Amino acid sequence: MNTTHRNREPRIAIVGGGIGGLVLAGMLHRYGITATVYERDTGLAAREQGGTLDLHPESGQRALDELGLADAFRTEARPEGENLRILDPAGRTLGHHAPEPGSGTRPEIDRGVLRKLLMTRVPDTAMSWGRHLTGVEELPGGGYRLVFADGSRVDCDLLIGADGGHSHIRPLLTDARPAHLAAYLQLTITDADQRRPRTADFVGPGSLMALGNNLNLGAQRSGDGTIRVSVTVRADDGWLRRQRFGNTDWAWTVARLHDLFADWDPGLTELIDACDAGSLVGRNIEAMPVGTRWPSRPHVTLLGDAAHLMPPVGEGANQAMLDGVLLAGAIAESGDDLVAAVAAYETEMFDRAETIGADSAQMESMGLAPDAAERMAAFFGQAVSRAR
Ligand SMILES: Cc1cc2nc3c(=O)[nH]c(=O)nc-3n(C[C@H](O)[C@H](O)[C@H](O)COP(=O)(O)OP(=O)(O)OC[C@H]3O[C@@H](n4cnc5c(N)ncnc54)[C@H](O)[C@@H]3O)c2cc1C
Repeated sequence: MNTTHRNREPRIAIVGGGIGGLVLAGMLHRYGITATVYERDTGLAAREQGGTLDLHPESGQRALDELGLADAFRTEARPEGENLRILDPAGRTLGHHAPEPGSGTRPEIDRGVLRKLLMTRVPDTAMSWGRHLTGVEELPGGGYRLVFADGSRVDCDLLIGADGGHSHIRPLLTDARPAHLAAYLQLTITDADQRRPRTADFVGPGSLMALGNNLNLGAQRSGDGTIRVSVTVRADDGWLRRQRFGNTDWAWTVARLHDLFADWDPGLTELIDACDAGSLVGRNIEAMPVGTRWPSRPHVTLLGDAAHLMPPVGEGANQAMLDGVLLAGAIAESGDDLVAAVAAYETEMFDRAETIGADSAQMESMGLAPDAAERMAAFFGQAVSRAR
């Protein structure tokens, strides 16, 4: 039994109001448990939310169901977003996953729309916006003191790090760090159907991936009429900086992007020309070592990318959402024994993250292999026939 907060409600602090942190906060509220989310952004509109996510029945959709958001999700989700075409660098379509209307299981939803839905389950009083955590101090009697960039301080009995891949809380539990995998560039085509109808038609209602030669050129439609074009390159962590891609001399950046795809079919590389001038955002893709775990400690745990950052192949947000459901359930079931709740949650999470992290690593490596298009088309072909 945890005795540190026997005579009062435990103070639960969630650092990070991303997808995982909001699911956890919403679920705790549903169980009647008070918690506060400390989020560095000043509000949901503070930054661009990024592309779309396909939510899986056993994880992301389960979380929405448990939050009472299943109907709202069905209204907002785009089943046609599951449509996926796989091409090789010569522009040949090697695979086409196009579920019959009503038969798909993983509809897409825009990330911003999803966060807005989740916010409807978190009371205003539980959100503390504009709180950028910069330090954590251990309290002598157990628990932690959080220190924020604005100089404010908050004490808590249970600290949950839901603060993403570069978590400030993770070092309290493990020395493991994310490792570099690839460089990633994202560009946008706004109002694609009106402004770039040929490109919009080529991309179709969902997404396409053209793969080969350690490169990946992707395009994905969002619900707001935007198409996001992505370029993934198997390269070291200094590559992006050395390329000096930028938004000031757009013609130069476009020419350098074309250099990457010099021998690719022009029908594919036209995607680059269609992108909005100045829309490039570059980042490195990283992942935590598969199988990362730590000896459970009272008063602190992690969820989502903070715990198990995975390559972006379609599981990270789903697993963060499931973490939120399961951690809230463990807290609710264990009465005031938060130590037992954390240990029970972590036992399941470590095993699940190891299995899914290994699958994701395999998928990421397949996506950047020399014969990636053939392998990916075969994989999706099998997945489609297994689902039938
Ligand atoms: C290009 C790309 C495509 C992806 N596609 C998919 C996909 O299709 N499907 C899928 O399931 N996953 C996908 N992912 C992964 C997914 O985005 C993440 O796994 C998911 O967002 C993790 O949720 P989270 O809540 O753990 O972290 P985040 O969503 O990163 O949220 C962390 C929150 O913590 C806040 N924060 C960070 N530091 C601090 C601090 N010091 N103080 C206070 N607040 C802080 C941040 O502002 C943020 O709001 C993709 C990732 C990338 C990069």
